[in-house]
Amino acid sequence: MTRIIGITSGKGGVGKTTTSVNLATVLASLGKSVILVDANLSTPNVGLHLGMPLSKVTLHDVLEGSAFITEAISIHPTTGIRVVPAGLSLENILKTNYAKLEDSIVELLGYSDFIIIDCPAGLESGSRRVIDACDEVLLVTIPELPAVTDALKAKKVAEVSGTHILGTIVNRINGLNSELSTHEIEQMIETPVVVKIPEDMNVHKAIASKYPAVMYAPLSKASREWKRLGHLITGIEYIEELPEKRSALKRIIHRLLNKKQDD
Ligand code: ADP
Ligand code: MG
Repeated sequence: MTRIIGITSGKGGVGKTTTSVNLATVLASLGKSVILVDANLSTPNVGLHLGMPLSKVTLHDVLEGSAFITEAISIHPTTGIRVVPAGLSLENILKTNYAKLEDSIVELLGYSDFIIIDCPAGLESGSRRVIDACDEVLLVTIPELPAVTDALKAKKVAEVSGTHILGTIVNRINGLNSELSTHEIEQMIETPVVVKIPEDMNVHKAIASKYPAVMYAPLSKASREWKRLGHLITGIEYIEELPEKRSALKRIIHRLLNKKQDD
């Protein structure tokens, strides 16, 4: 049975695309077949995160009625994920119509274990239709009051749509006193926090290298949490692999080398 999981949020820029790409990669690495749909039609980024060439057929063509969704699938060579990209041109973006999305997603049922949908931010137009196409959603937020408040609104959209809420992902945690705690976020959204992803420089480097972070830096702190999420969703036991502990000297050399690369 295909599980359709939407990655949604209230605010933009909190980590939906990064989470969608990394979760899809983890699921594929666990032997699951995955279709990743870029349904964030106004700011589509999945193809950019994965370094995929521009596609001839995109989700925009599907929604416009000029192609079947199966024609819009491209295979990402390194991960084996099948990706349905969105069109990048402004002309495409302006004529976006989400009405056909749910029916198009239904056409993909049975072709994979998982369909991961990178959703538009919860309060954007079309977001409700995307959520309607999902069976389950994960809410993504950062630990700041406005983002959490908006995540609550996104949760309400999912509730109205009757979509099962799997929980909240708190992303970009720096551990600052000013950040909301997990407990506070759970109280505000009334949904359990299923995974806590730290702010991690490797995420920026991975995006620049056009590889999912879980491949680019598999043992980095953020990657280990995306792996935890993938295991949680599949029910496969997670045995966390930690990076080798470096000696003080190795740590200094590593820091100097990294600094040089960053300069
Ligand atoms: P959204 O899809 O919700 O708009 P993105 O996934 O595009 O958000 O994330 C926005 C930016 O935040 C990314 O380009 C990346 O630079 C940064 N980012 C996301 N998650 C992390 C993280 N855990 N650590 C560091 N940077 C992150
Ligand atoms: Mg995005």
